[in-house]
Amino acid sequence: MRAVDIIRNKRQGAEHTPAEINFLIQNYVHGAIPDYQISAWLMAVLWRGLSEPETFALTTAMIASGDTLDLSPLSGPCVDKHSTGGVGDKTTLAVVPILASAGVQVPKMSGRGLGHTGGTLDKLESLGGTRTEMATPDILAQVQTFGACICAQTSRLVPADRLLYALRDATDTVESRPLIAASIMSKKIAGGCLSIVLDVKVGGGAFMKTLPEARALAELMIKIGAAHGRKTVAVLSDMDVPLGYTVGNRVEVHEVVSLLQNNAWTEPRLKTVVCTLAAAGFLLAGRVSSLAEGTTLAEAQIASGAARQKLRDIVEAQGGDPDYLTHAQKPPVAKIKRDVRAETSGFVRSIHAEAIGLSAMRLGAGRAAKEDPIDPTAGVVLRETVGCAVTAGNIVATLYTGSEIAAREVAPQVLSAFEIGPEPPPARNVIHEIIGL
Ligand code: URA
Repeated sequence: MRAVDIIRNKRQGAEHTPAEINFLIQNYVHGAIPDYQISAWLMAVLWRGLSEPETFALTTAMIASGDTLDLSPLSGPCVDKHSTGGVGDKTTLAVVPILASAGVQVPKMSGRGLGHTGGTLDKLESLGGTRTEMATPDILAQVQTFGACICAQTSRLVPADRLLYALRDATDTVESRPLIAASIMSKKIAGGCLSIVLDVKVGGGAFMKTLPEARALAELMIKIGAAHGRKTVAVLSDMDVPLGYTVGNRVEVHEVVSLLQNNAWTEPRLKTVVCTLAAAGFLLAGRVSSLAEGTTLAEAQIASGAARQKLRDIVEAQGGDPDYLTHAQKPPVAKIKRDVRAETSGFVRSIHAEAIGLSAMRLGAGRAAKEDPIDPTAGVVLRETVGCAVTAGNIVATLYTGSEIAAREVAPQVLSAFEIGPEPPPARNVIHEIIGL
Protein backbone atom coordinates (compact mmCIF):
# COMPACT_ATOMS: atom_id res chain seq x y z
CA MET A 1 0.00 0.00 0.00
CA ARG A 2 1.30 3.49 -0.85
CA ALA A 3 0.00 6.83 0.40
CA VAL A 4 0.21 8.33 -3.08
CA ASP A 5 -2.19 5.69 -4.48
CA ILE A 6 -4.69 6.35 -1.68
CA ILE A 7 -4.49 10.11 -2.36
CA ARG A 8 -5.05 9.50 -6.10
CA ASN A 9 -8.06 7.27 -5.38
CA LYS A 10 -9.71 9.97 -3.30
CA ARG A 11 -8.78 12.67 -5.80
CA GLN A 12 -10.64 10.62 -8.42
CA GLY A 13 -13.63 10.15 -6.09
CA ALA A 14 -13.12 6.45 -5.29
CA GLU A 15 -14.19 4.88 -1.98
CA HIS A 16 -11.44 3.90 0.48
CA THR A 17 -11.38 0.57 2.28
CA PRO A 18 -11.10 0.65 6.10
CA ALA A 19 -7.60 -0.86 5.69
CA GLU A 20 -6.50 2.05 3.50
CA ILE A 21 -7.78 4.62 5.99
CA ASN A 22 -6.15 2.80 8.88
CA PHE A 23 -2.87 2.60 6.93
CA LEU A 24 -2.90 6.38 6.39
CA ILE A 25 -3.71 7.30 9.97
CA GLN A 26 -1.40 4.88 11.82
CA ASN A 27 1.55 5.60 9.52
CA TYR A 28 0.98 9.32 9.79
CA VAL A 29 0.93 9.21 13.60
CA HIS A 30 4.15 7.14 13.61
CA GLY A 31 5.89 9.59 11.27
CA ALA A 32 6.05 7.23 8.28
CA ILE A 33 3.78 9.42 6.11
CA PRO A 34 4.75 13.11 5.86
CA ASP A 35 2.51 16.13 6.46
CA TYR A 36 2.48 17.04 2.75
CA GLN A 37 0.87 13.74 1.74
CA ILE A 38 -1.76 13.94 4.48
CA SER A 39 -2.41 17.57 3.52
CA ALA A 40 -3.07 16.49 -0.08
CA TRP A 41 -5.38 13.72 1.15
CA LEU A 42 -7.28 16.15 3.42
CA MET A 43 -7.83 18.50 0.48
CA ALA A 44 -9.07 15.58 -1.66
CA VAL A 45 -11.45 14.62 1.19
CA LEU A 46 -12.68 18.21 1.48
CA TRP A 47 -13.65 18.19 -2.22
CA ARG A 48 -14.73 14.58 -2.70
CA GLY A 49 -16.14 13.87 0.76
CA LEU A 50 -16.15 10.61 2.68
CA SER A 51 -19.03 8.13 2.66
CA GLU A 52 -20.55 7.05 5.98
CA PRO A 53 -18.56 3.78 6.05
CA GLU A 54 -15.37 5.75 5.31
CA THR A 55 -16.17 8.25 8.08
CA PHE A 56 -16.83 5.39 10.53
CA ALA A 57 -13.50 3.80 9.52
CA LEU A 58 -11.69 7.13 9.98
CA THR A 59 -13.17 7.56 13.46
CA THR A 60 -12.17 4.01 14.44
CA ALA A 61 -8.63 4.52 13.08
CA MET A 62 -8.29 7.81 14.98
CA ILE A 63 -9.46 6.21 18.25
CA ALA A 64 -6.95 3.37 17.67
CA SER A 65 -4.12 5.89 17.28
CA GLY A 66 -3.88 6.24 21.10
CA ASP A 67 -5.28 5.21 24.47
CA THR A 68 -8.88 5.29 25.61
CA LEU A 69 -9.96 6.45 29.05
CA ASP A 70 -11.25 3.68 31.32
CA LEU A 71 -13.99 5.23 33.45
CA SER A 72 -14.93 1.96 35.21
CA PRO A 73 -13.54 3.22 38.59
CA LEU A 74 -16.34 5.84 38.53
CA SER A 75 -19.67 4.68 39.84
CA GLY A 76 -22.81 6.55 38.83
CA PRO A 77 -23.78 8.27 35.62
CA CYS A 78 -21.20 10.07 33.47
CA VAL A 79 -21.94 12.53 30.71
CA ASP A 80 -19.60 14.25 28.24
CA LYS A 81 -20.31 17.45 26.31
CA HIS A 82 -18.79 19.01 23.21
CA SER A 83 -19.40 22.12 21.14
CA THR A 84 -18.50 22.41 17.47
CA GLY A 85 -17.13 25.86 18.33
CA GLY A 86 -18.39 29.39 18.33
CA VAL A 87 -17.93 32.99 19.47
CA GLY A 88 -18.59 33.74 23.14
CA ASP A 89 -19.33 30.05 23.65
CA LYS A 90 -18.76 29.70 27.37
CA THR A 91 -21.39 27.01 27.97
CA THR A 92 -18.98 24.31 29.20
CA LEU A 93 -18.03 26.46 32.21
CA ALA A 94 -21.69 26.57 33.26
CA VAL A 95 -23.03 23.18 32.08
CA VAL A 96 -20.29 21.09 33.75
CA PRO A 97 -20.87 22.52 37.28
CA ILE A 98 -24.66 22.42 36.84
CA LEU A 99 -24.54 18.69 36.00
CA ALA A 100 -21.94 17.85 38.65
CA SER A 101 -23.81 19.77 41.37
CA ALA A 102 -26.79 17.46 40.78
CA GLY A 103 -24.79 14.23 40.90
CA VAL A 104 -23.96 13.68 37.22
CA GLN A 105 -20.23 13.14 36.74
CA VAL A 106 -18.44 15.00 33.94
CA PRO A 107 -14.84 14.17 33.04
CA LYS A 108 -14.65 16.96 30.48
CA MET A 109 -11.72 17.31 28.12
CA SER A 110 -11.65 20.60 26.27
CA GLY A 111 -9.60 22.40 23.67
CA ARG A 112 -8.00 25.77 23.13
CA GLY A 113 -9.28 28.54 20.92
CA LEU A 114 -8.02 28.87 17.40
CA GLY A 115 -8.93 31.52 14.84
CA HIS A 116 -12.17 33.35 15.57
CA THR A 117 -13.54 30.66 17.94
CA GLY A 118 -12.68 30.52 21.63
CA GLY A 119 -11.56 27.56 23.75
CA THR A 120 -12.59 26.54 27.26
CA LEU A 121 -9.00 25.86 28.41
CA ASP A 122 -7.92 29.44 27.68
CA LYS A 123 -10.88 30.76 29.66
CA LEU A 124 -10.13 28.51 32.63
CA GLU A 125 -6.41 29.29 32.57
CA SER A 126 -7.22 33.02 32.71
CA LEU A 127 -8.06 32.46 36.42
CA GLY A 128 -4.56 32.74 37.82
CA GLY A 129 -3.17 29.79 35.91
CA THR A 130 -5.66 27.03 36.61
CA ARG A 131 -4.01 23.66 35.87
CA THR A 132 -5.54 22.04 32.81
CA GLU A 133 -2.91 19.38 31.97
CA MET A 134 -4.00 16.38 34.04
CA ALA A 135 -2.91 12.74 33.98
CA THR A 136 -5.60 10.04 33.87
CA PRO A 137 -5.36 9.10 37.61
CA ASP A 138 -5.78 12.81 38.53
CA ILE A 139 -8.81 13.13 36.25
CA LEU A 140 -10.45 10.10 37.87
CA ALA A 141 -9.56 11.25 41.41
CA GLN A 142 -10.99 14.72 40.83
CA VAL A 143 -14.21 13.38 39.30
CA GLN A 144 -14.58 10.99 42.25
CA THR A 145 -14.14 13.85 44.74
CA PHE A 146 -15.83 16.80 43.04
CA GLY A 147 -17.94 15.17 40.32
CA ALA A 148 -16.15 16.91 37.47
CA CYS A 149 -12.96 18.19 35.95
CA ILE A 150 -12.30 20.44 32.96
CA CYS A 151 -8.93 19.60 31.49
CA ALA A 152 -6.89 19.22 28.32
CA GLN A 153 -7.01 16.02 26.41
CA THR A 154 -4.16 13.79 27.64
CA SER A 155 -1.36 13.48 25.09
CA ARG A 156 -2.08 9.77 24.57
CA LEU A 157 -5.75 10.28 23.72
CA VAL A 158 -6.41 10.40 19.95
CA PRO A 159 -2.96 11.73 18.96
CA ALA A 160 -4.16 11.50 15.35
CA ASP A 161 -6.65 14.32 15.98
CA ARG A 162 -4.02 16.65 17.41
CA LEU A 163 -1.84 16.18 14.31
CA LEU A 164 -4.70 16.25 11.80
CA TYR A 165 -6.39 19.28 13.37
CA ALA A 166 -3.18 21.36 13.16
CA LEU A 167 -2.80 20.37 9.49
CA ARG A 168 -6.44 21.08 8.73
CA ASP A 169 -6.09 24.49 10.31
CA ALA A 170 -2.99 25.26 8.22
CA THR A 171 -4.45 23.92 4.95
CA ASP A 172 -7.97 25.38 5.30
CA THR A 173 -9.56 21.94 5.40
CA VAL A 174 -11.38 22.28 8.73
CA GLU A 175 -14.84 22.78 7.26
CA SER A 176 -15.44 19.22 6.07
CA ARG A 177 -18.41 17.43 7.62
CA PRO A 178 -16.81 13.94 7.80
CA LEU A 179 -13.53 15.37 9.12
CA ILE A 180 -15.32 17.37 11.84
CA ALA A 181 -17.51 14.38 12.77
CA ALA A 182 -14.53 12.00 13.03
CA SER A 183 -12.48 14.57 14.96
CA ILE A 184 -15.16 15.23 17.56
CA MET A 185 -16.50 11.70 17.95
CA SER A 186 -13.07 10.01 18.12
CA LYS A 187 -12.27 12.24 21.13
CA LYS A 188 -15.64 11.72 22.79
CA ILE A 189 -15.56 7.93 22.33
CA ALA A 190 -11.94 7.67 23.52
CA GLY A 191 -12.97 9.84 26.51
CA GLY A 192 -15.01 6.91 27.79
CA CYS A 193 -18.47 8.38 28.59
CA LEU A 194 -21.44 6.41 27.32
CA SER A 195 -23.63 9.55 27.12
CA ILE A 196 -22.67 12.52 24.99
CA VAL A 197 -24.32 15.94 24.59
CA LEU A 198 -23.28 17.81 21.45
CA ASP A 199 -23.82 21.53 20.89
CA VAL A 200 -23.82 21.91 17.11
CA LYS A 201 -23.49 25.59 16.28
CA VAL A 202 -25.26 26.98 13.21
CA GLY A 203 -24.70 30.34 11.50
CA GLY A 204 -22.17 32.90 10.33
CA GLY A 205 -19.83 32.39 13.31
CA ALA A 206 -19.90 28.58 13.10
CA PHE A 207 -18.35 25.95 10.83
CA MET A 208 -21.85 24.91 9.73
CA LYS A 209 -23.44 27.98 8.16
CA THR A 210 -26.92 26.55 7.49
CA LEU A 211 -29.43 24.43 9.36
CA PRO A 212 -29.39 21.54 6.80
CA GLU A 213 -25.57 21.36 7.07
CA ALA A 214 -25.70 21.37 10.87
CA ARG A 215 -28.45 18.75 10.89
CA ALA A 216 -26.43 16.48 8.60
CA LEU A 217 -23.36 16.85 10.86
CA ALA A 218 -25.43 16.13 13.98
CA GLU A 219 -27.03 13.03 12.44
CA LEU A 220 -23.66 11.71 11.32
CA MET A 221 -22.15 12.16 14.80
CA ILE A 222 -25.16 10.47 16.44
CA LYS A 223 -24.73 7.47 14.10
CA ILE A 224 -21.01 7.24 14.84
CA GLY A 225 -21.79 7.36 18.56
CA ALA A 226 -24.39 4.60 18.22
CA ALA A 227 -21.91 2.39 16.33
CA HIS A 228 -19.65 2.65 19.41
CA GLY A 229 -22.44 2.05 21.94
CA ARG A 230 -22.85 5.74 22.82
CA LYS A 231 -26.15 7.53 23.29
CA THR A 232 -25.70 10.96 21.74
CA VAL A 233 -28.01 13.98 21.73
CA ALA A 234 -27.31 17.01 19.53
CA VAL A 235 -28.63 20.48 20.34
CA LEU A 236 -28.53 22.73 17.26
CA SER A 237 -28.01 26.28 18.53
CA ASP A 238 -27.66 29.68 16.88
CA MET A 239 -24.22 31.13 16.14
CA ASP A 240 -25.10 34.02 13.85
CA VAL A 241 -24.74 36.27 16.89
CA PRO A 242 -22.12 35.83 19.68
CA LEU A 243 -23.46 33.88 22.64
CA GLY A 244 -23.85 36.12 25.69
CA TYR A 245 -22.47 39.59 26.27
CA THR A 246 -18.76 38.73 26.36
CA VAL A 247 -16.11 37.40 24.00
CA GLY A 248 -12.65 36.75 25.44
CA ASN A 249 -11.35 34.77 28.38
CA ARG A 250 -11.65 36.28 31.86
CA VAL A 251 -14.60 38.40 30.69
CA GLU A 252 -16.40 35.21 29.67
CA VAL A 253 -15.72 33.55 33.03
CA HIS A 254 -17.25 36.57 34.78
CA GLU A 255 -20.32 36.28 32.61
CA VAL A 256 -20.63 32.60 33.58
CA VAL A 257 -20.32 33.51 37.27
CA SER A 258 -23.00 36.14 36.80
CA LEU A 259 -25.28 33.55 35.19
CA LEU A 260 -24.60 31.04 37.98
CA GLN A 261 -25.38 33.78 40.55
CA ASN A 262 -28.69 34.39 38.80
CA ASN A 263 -27.70 38.06 38.33
CA ALA A 264 -29.66 40.48 36.20
CA TRP A 265 -26.59 40.69 33.91
CA THR A 266 -27.48 37.37 32.26
CA GLU A 267 -28.16 37.19 28.56
CA PRO A 268 -31.35 35.16 28.04
CA ARG A 269 -30.04 33.29 24.95
CA LEU A 270 -26.97 32.13 26.89
CA LYS A 271 -29.09 30.90 29.78
CA THR A 272 -31.41 29.04 27.37
CA VAL A 273 -28.53 27.23 25.66
CA VAL A 274 -26.85 26.38 28.99
CA CYS A 275 -30.05 25.03 30.55
CA THR A 276 -30.99 23.07 27.40
CA LEU A 277 -27.56 21.40 27.22
CA ALA A 278 -27.67 20.61 30.94
CA ALA A 279 -31.24 19.28 30.57
CA ALA A 280 -30.11 16.94 27.77
CA GLY A 281 -27.29 15.76 30.05
CA PHE A 282 -29.68 15.09 32.94
CA LEU A 283 -31.98 13.17 30.61
CA LEU A 284 -29.15 11.01 29.23
CA ALA A 285 -27.93 10.33 32.76
CA GLY A 286 -31.42 9.12 33.76
CA ARG A 287 -31.64 11.88 36.36
CA VAL A 288 -34.94 13.22 34.89
CA SER A 289 -37.57 11.80 32.55
CA SER A 290 -38.14 14.76 30.22
CA LEU A 291 -36.25 17.71 28.79
CA ALA A 292 -38.64 20.10 30.58
CA GLU A 293 -37.87 18.44 33.92
CA GLY A 294 -34.16 18.66 33.10
CA THR A 295 -34.46 22.39 32.41
CA THR A 296 -36.23 22.90 35.74
CA LEU A 297 -33.47 20.97 37.53
CA ALA A 298 -30.76 23.03 35.77
CA GLU A 299 -32.49 26.26 36.82
CA ALA A 300 -32.81 24.99 40.39
CA GLN A 301 -29.07 24.19 40.54
CA ILE A 302 -28.40 27.80 39.48
CA ALA A 303 -30.94 29.35 41.85
CA SER A 304 -29.67 27.44 44.90
CA GLY A 305 -26.04 28.51 44.30
CA ALA A 306 -24.98 24.83 44.08
CA ALA A 307 -23.67 25.16 40.52
CA ARG A 308 -21.67 28.30 41.38
CA GLN A 309 -20.09 26.56 44.37
CA LYS A 310 -19.26 23.57 42.14
CA LEU A 311 -17.46 25.81 39.62
CA ARG A 312 -15.45 27.26 42.52
CA ASP A 313 -14.60 23.73 43.74
CA ILE A 314 -13.40 22.74 40.25
CA VAL A 315 -11.25 25.86 39.84
CA GLU A 316 -9.72 25.43 43.33
CA ALA A 317 -9.11 21.70 42.81
CA GLN A 318 -7.20 22.55 39.64
CA GLY A 319 -5.01 25.12 41.40
CA GLY A 320 -6.80 28.23 40.11
CA ASP A 321 -7.37 31.39 42.13
CA PRO A 322 -11.09 31.42 42.99
CA ASP A 323 -10.82 35.13 43.87
CA TYR A 324 -11.01 35.80 40.13
CA LEU A 325 -14.50 34.32 40.17
CA THR A 326 -15.76 36.94 42.58
CA HIS A 327 -13.58 40.00 41.93
CA ALA A 328 -13.92 41.13 38.32
CA GLN A 329 -11.38 43.90 38.96
CA LYS A 330 -8.68 41.70 40.52
CA PRO A 331 -5.36 42.68 38.87
CA PRO A 332 -4.01 42.35 36.33
CA VAL A 333 -6.75 44.11 34.40
CA ALA A 334 -6.55 45.17 30.75
CA LYS A 335 -4.33 48.25 30.22
CA ILE A 336 -6.69 49.78 27.69
CA LYS A 337 -10.45 50.06 27.84
CA ARG A 338 -12.17 51.66 24.85
CA ASP A 339 -15.86 52.22 24.27
CA VAL A 340 -17.40 51.83 20.83
CA ARG A 341 -20.38 54.11 20.17
CA ALA A 342 -23.26 53.78 17.72
CA GLU A 343 -23.19 56.23 14.83
CA THR A 344 -26.87 55.87 13.97
CA SER A 345 -30.08 55.42 15.92
CA GLY A 346 -32.34 52.41 15.48
CA PHE A 347 -32.59 48.78 16.51
CA VAL A 348 -29.73 46.29 16.71
CA ARG A 349 -30.76 43.81 14.01
CA SER A 350 -27.69 41.60 14.17
CA ILE A 351 -24.16 41.41 15.60
CA HIS A 352 -21.96 39.41 13.26
CA ALA A 353 -20.39 36.66 15.32
CA GLU A 354 -17.34 35.98 13.17
CA ALA A 355 -16.39 39.69 13.00
CA ILE A 356 -16.61 39.96 16.81
CA GLY A 357 -14.59 36.74 17.21
CA LEU A 358 -11.85 38.04 14.90
CA SER A 359 -11.87 41.38 16.74
CA ALA A 360 -11.44 39.67 20.13
CA MET A 361 -8.58 37.65 18.66
CA ARG A 362 -6.87 40.83 17.40
CA LEU A 363 -7.25 42.41 20.86
CA GLY A 364 -5.22 39.50 22.26
CA ALA A 365 -7.96 37.15 23.49
CA GLY A 366 -7.31 34.50 20.83
CA ARG A 367 -4.56 33.13 18.68
CA ALA A 368 -4.05 33.14 14.92
CA ALA A 369 -1.41 30.38 15.21
CA LYS A 370 -1.26 27.55 17.73
CA GLU A 371 1.81 28.86 19.56
CA ASP A 372 0.58 32.49 19.91
CA PRO A 373 0.28 33.77 23.52
CA ILE A 374 -3.09 34.82 24.94
CA ASP A 375 -3.87 37.96 26.94
CA PRO A 376 -6.31 36.70 29.61
CA THR A 377 -7.63 40.22 30.19
CA ALA A 378 -8.42 41.02 26.54
CA GLY A 379 -11.86 40.81 24.96
CA VAL A 380 -15.06 42.48 23.84
CA VAL A 381 -18.06 43.21 26.06
CA LEU A 382 -21.28 43.83 24.14
CA ARG A 383 -23.31 46.52 25.89
CA GLU A 384 -26.31 46.21 23.58
CA THR A 385 -27.65 43.06 22.04
CA VAL A 386 -29.97 42.03 19.22
CA GLY A 387 -33.37 43.69 19.48
CA CYS A 388 -32.18 46.62 21.66
CA ALA A 389 -33.05 50.18 20.62
CA VAL A 390 -29.95 52.41 20.43
CA THR A 391 -29.43 56.13 19.95
CA ALA A 392 -26.46 57.55 18.05
CA GLY A 393 -23.69 58.09 20.61
CA ASN A 394 -24.74 55.18 22.86
CA ILE A 395 -21.99 52.75 23.90
CA VAL A 396 -22.64 49.47 22.07
CA ALA A 397 -19.45 47.64 23.06
CA THR A 398 -16.33 48.01 25.21
CA LEU A 399 -12.93 46.71 24.11
CA TYR A 400 -10.30 45.46 26.59
CA THR A 401 -6.71 45.01 25.41
CA GLY A 402 -3.05 45.62 26.18
CA SER A 403 -2.41 47.22 22.78
CA GLU A 404 -3.39 50.77 21.84
CA ILE A 405 -2.83 49.92 18.16
CA ALA A 406 -5.15 46.91 18.36
CA ALA A 407 -7.85 48.98 20.11
CA ARG A 408 -7.64 51.62 17.37
CA GLU A 409 -7.79 49.06 14.57
CA VAL A 410 -10.54 46.93 16.07
CA ALA A 411 -13.01 49.67 17.13
CA PRO A 412 -14.35 50.26 13.56
CA GLN A 413 -14.56 46.49 12.96
CA VAL A 414 -16.67 46.01 16.08
CA LEU A 415 -18.88 48.93 15.11
CA SER A 416 -19.47 47.51 11.64
CA ALA A 417 -20.34 44.09 13.16
CA PHE A 418 -23.44 45.82 14.57
CA GLU A 419 -26.23 45.96 12.01
CA ILE A 420 -28.50 48.82 13.08
CA GLY A 421 -31.75 49.46 11.20
CA PRO A 422 -35.03 51.33 11.56
CA GLU A 423 -37.14 48.22 12.32
CA PRO A 424 -36.73 45.75 15.17
CA PRO A 425 -35.43 42.37 13.93
CA PRO A 426 -37.80 39.40 13.65
CA ALA A 427 -37.79 37.16 16.74
CA ARG A 428 -35.48 34.18 16.29
CA ASN A 429 -34.90 31.08 18.33
CA VAL A 430 -31.54 30.33 19.87
CA ILE A 431 -32.29 26.59 19.91
CA HIS A 432 -33.16 25.41 16.41
CA GLU A 433 -33.59 21.68 16.98
CA ILE A 434 -32.71 18.85 19.32
CA ILE A 435 -31.83 15.57 17.61
CA GLY A 436 -31.40 12.11 19.13
CA LEU A 437 -33.76 12.25 22.09
N1 URA B 1 -14.11 20.78 16.97
C1 URA B 1 -13.33 19.68 16.93
O1 URA B 1 -12.99 19.12 17.97
N2 URA B 1 -12.94 19.21 15.74
C2 URA B 1 -13.30 19.79 14.58
O2 URA B 1 -12.91 19.30 13.54
C3 URA B 1 -14.11 20.94 14.62
C4 URA B 1 -14.51 21.42 15.83
